[in-house]
Formats: sequence, structure tokens, C-alpha cells
Amino acid sequence: MIREEMAKLDNKTGLRGAELPITFNNAKCTLGLYCSNNGGSFKFSNYYFQDPEWPIESALDVIRHEYAHHMDHVLYGHSGHGSTWKICCRIVGATPIRCYNESRAEYYRQKHIKEDKLSERYDQYKIGDYIEHPKHGIGRIEDIFGEGVHRCVSIRFKNNDCKRFGLAWIDNNCQKSDWLSK
Ligand SMILES: [Zn+2]
Repeated sequence: MIREEMAKLDNKTGLRGAELPITFNNAKCTLGLYCSNNGGSFKFSNYYFQDPEWPIESALDVIRHEYAHHMDHVLYGHSGHGSTWKICCRIVGATPIRCYNESRAEYYRQKHIKEDKLSERYDQYKIGDYIEHPKHGIGRIEDIFGEGVHRCVSIRFKNNDCKRFGLAWIDNNCQKSDWLSK
């Protein structure tokens, strides 16, 4: 997964960071490390990278942070968190801050918990279900596509019009007709 992300960054930068050696340790304080010796190598902490609760957004930010160090070294011959490193951060989409931000990780953790709950709620919508739209009236779900909280639905109404909506919008604004009958 780290190499996959680095290959994407290589596409942006023209570098070959994805080909550099990657090793792992169990450090709790240092999440990632770039070493410029011998053409460059990366080290990442399994304490975080093997933690299933650790948000993917934080992992991507650490990967991009270290990649920006590699980029900064190759392009400008610099190390550290100076102005050229910040330029590299902007290009690869890393947060240009020196230290890992745990409250940011906590924000994403909470966001994922909320999204998982919503996604479970959306799982209740099936093809063939009926909903009541505030303006178009009763409609039947003909198709559901997309994933998680970003699902969309096609709904066929009585006048035979078929319309597409975000499932989040439907869930917030319409009633499910089997819920109505209870
Ligand atoms: Zn750094």
C-alpha cells in the first residue's frame, strides 16, 4: 500500500521514490523516517501502520511527508522541514507541518465511526423498496450504486419518471414506505 501511494506520487513528480527500500520498526514517537544515504530509503512504524484503527488519512499523510523529504533532497539537496520541503509537501499533498498531529487522527477516527454507522443504516435500502419523496410522492428504488456513505439510487416514480439521488439525501428527506406502514 505504501509503494502504491508512492507510485502515484512518482507519477506527479517524475521521481522513482516507489523503488526505494522500505523497512519497518515499532517506534511509537517516530511514525516515518527518510534517510538520504545510498540513494535514499524509508522507514515506517508498524506500531501505527499495523494498527487497524489508525485512520488511512493519517497513514497517507505520513507517507507523503516522508516522500516530500525524498523529493526535497533529490530536487534541492535539502533535508529538514524548510521552505523547499514545504513546496514539495504542497505538490504531493502532505500537510506541511513538522510533527504528527494526533488530534487530526482522532478527528478521522470519529469521522469513520460516524460513517460506518450511516453506512449500516444505508444498507437497509434495497432494490425494490419504496420511499416517499416530499415532492414526487411514492417511488420504487430501481438501482443502487456506489459504496458506503456515497451511494446513489435511481428511483422510478408513479408518472414513470426515473430520477437519481444521493442515498444520504433520500435518507434525510424521504420516508421509507415500509417504515410508514409500521
Ligand atoms: Zn519530517
